[in-house]
Amino acid sequence: MVKLSTQEIHDLVDQYREEAIQLFQKTVQIPSPTGQELELSQFFEAYMQSFGLSVSKYEYETGRPNLIAEWTGNEAGKRFIFNGHMDVFPPPKGVTSKYGPWSGVIQDGKLYGQGAGDMKAGDCAAMMAVRILKESGYIPNGKIVLSYMVDEENTSEKGVLSLLKDGLLTNGDFGICMEPSHHKMLMEEGGVWQAEVTYYASGGHTTHPTQEEDALMKSIKAITHLYQLREKILSRSFSQLGHPFFQINMLTAGTVSNIRASKSTFSIDRRFAWEEGIEKVKKEIIDVLDALKAADPAYDYTLREIAYYPCAKRDRNDESVQLMFQACQDITGKQPQSFARYASSDAVHIMDHTGMQMPIYGPGDLDICSTSDECVDLEEYLTTIKIYIRMLDLLLGQRAEENH
Ligand SMILES: [Zn+2]
Repeated sequence: MVKLSTQEIHDLVDQYREEAIQLFQKTVQIPSPTGQELELSQFFEAYMQSFGLSVSKYEYETGRPNLIAEWTGNEAGKRFIFNGHMDVFPPPKGVTSKYGPWSGVIQDGKLYGQGAGDMKAGDCAAMMAVRILKESGYIPNGKIVLSYMVDEENTSEKGVLSLLKDGLLTNGDFGICMEPSHHKMLMEEGGVWQAEVTYYASGGHTTHPTQEEDALMKSIKAITHLYQLREKILSRSFSQLGHPFFQINMLTAGTVSNIRASKSTFSIDRRFAWEEGIEKVKKEIIDVLDALKAADPAYDYTLREIAYYPCAKRDRNDESVQLMFQACQDITGKQPQSFARYASSDAVHIMDHTGMQMPIYGPGDLDICSTSDECVDLEEYLTTIKIYIRMLDLLLGQRAEENH
């Protein structure tokens, strides 16, 4: 049984309208490109303390604290985790924005600034949801965690990955990542695997004839074979994600124009679906390269993994996920569409480490994030606060049967 009617939620958030907009504006006006999150983290820390939360800081690089604040209503209840990041991409170079990257200008109902959508609006919406509930005297039947990470736009090494390694953020029962999803619920991320392949040869001056294939020729032959595999990969299709990707984006060889290339390197960017699985993804590529080597030992190669981000898939039948959809329906009158994409997020890492359900739902349209005129519709932002409150109440409200 929920504690708050939807009308009460609308009224509560409407009372905090100016406060919520001011928080969002101030946050956007504090520059926080990756590596420079300190000032924003200090502001967030002070803000959360101002409504009675105690904030823990975890630093894996000096001056870059990750923040975790927990509000306990009932020690025995379940734990809901909000996860967001404080860092933003640096403003795009060579283009001028209408108001400047850190303006926080409000025009035609939209708030402008670098990182407004990705993901300061979501960060603030979660913070406001907790503040409003707390100040209204609400007591959750469990715990609510606000967590704000650094380093998300880089590799998450100094952020969520280090926290997870240290056993932090691993104790949630469910949660939301507030990345921009523009009224939709992100249910699935494809995985990413990137590697670099290198071939070698003995080199030598162009004018000295040789039968040996140089390193560049080897790379080209390997790429030609990999492109045949690419055809096969692109012909696959998965329910929400659509076609997986296979791209070769970089090729380097040689050092000067009159010496045969003794070394050549190319990079592979593979975006894959849950159903394909990382082991199969790697094996398909390695099999092609190994077949060339089996036919000619001169095709020996080295392969270096550059990046790996796992897949994440939420369970639409999970009760907590159903309640998150329900919360959107209750506030907006319609069910959000679910969607999938071949890109990663901190939520993927949290799910990979813990198995918990953490869909992505947040204000802002990713298509205009990191453009020179990034902005977020204020009504979308305010509606999201209401949805988060509804989610918390549906998931951590006192159940009727627990009163007995
Ligand atoms: Zn983001």
